[in-house]
Amino acid sequence: MSEWFEWREAPESEFGVIGDPIAHSWSPKMMAAAFSELGAPYRYIAIRVPANEFEEAMERRSSLGTIGLNVTIPLKGLAFEWAITPDQYSQHYRSVNTLRLGDRSATNTDASGFLETLADLSIEPGSDVLLLGAGGSASALALALCDAGYNVRVWNRTGAKADELVGRLGNRGSSVTEPDPLGCSLIVNATASTLSGFDLPIDWVRAEPSALAYDLAYGHTLSPFLVAARAAGLRTSDGRAMLVAQGARSIEWWLGVEAPRTAMAEALE
Ligand code: NDP
Repeated sequence: MSEWFEWREAPESEFGVIGDPIAHSWSPKMMAAAFSELGAPYRYIAIRVPANEFEEAMERRSSLGTIGLNVTIPLKGLAFEWAITPDQYSQHYRSVNTLRLGDRSATNTDASGFLETLADLSIEPGSDVLLLGAGGSASALALALCDAGYNVRVWNRTGAKADELVGRLGNRGSSVTEPDPLGCSLIVNATASTLSGFDLPIDWVRAEPSALAYDLAYGHTLSPFLVAARAAGLRTSDGRAMLVAQGARSIEWWLGVEAPRTAMAEALE
């Protein structure tokens, strides 16, 4: 567990990450490494903000001089609503993971960060992708994957939300009732199942042996999703690469300088 604060007790800091729960976040140690490498004297802390206290918490952070915040589960939609000037990516995904408090501007670096990592993992546009989940991250990823030319199948525990998401894709993807990995080069877990310790009902025997299983979650141990994928002989990646890429892009948006990705990745090893 990393150090984190309840929003009413959180000290002054220039930057931070808000969410609920927040104890699992590795962003503080990664961003501390980035600011240290840049020689920038900024503090970055993890703050728990329940969804029904979002507005009050934002007022508090503004009064404490916070410049920017990353936003995680389950606050990305609220952050989009709070922003006065969300950029084209936030508007496209209707989800925000990066806020600048002074002018209430916002962006979303999740999707572009995720696509950055796919290039490194040799998953080419045109590939079939099974995307698990229909929440904030899954929505942004689905749109970004379709925009980049991937063929996306969306499965979600609550099927109606997968249908609704595919509707927003403009008939470029499909919604599936079973998370069948057959024929997919990439299987992405964008659900919060790992946080709640649940397994997903995937028949791994049907997966392509060359496929990559990619979990957006990260932690000290492999998620049940990645354990099962590895047992089936698949390549795996956890969410650390995406964490680095989206965090680097947040720094670049806030400060206008290139973020030190290597130092950030080393801080997570
Ligand atoms: P949301 O709350 O917006 O969405 C949650 C999704 O998970 C919904 O589709 C929900 O389904 C599904 N879900 C929740 N519990 C279960 C379960 N037990 N079994 C199956 N499905 C479940 O969350 P986010 O999209 O913001 O985040 C999703 C995950 O991605 C989190 O683990 C988060 O930490 C991770 N993440 C990692 C990032 C990184 O940089 N590595 C960046 C962003 C997110 P339903 O609709 O049925 O409720």
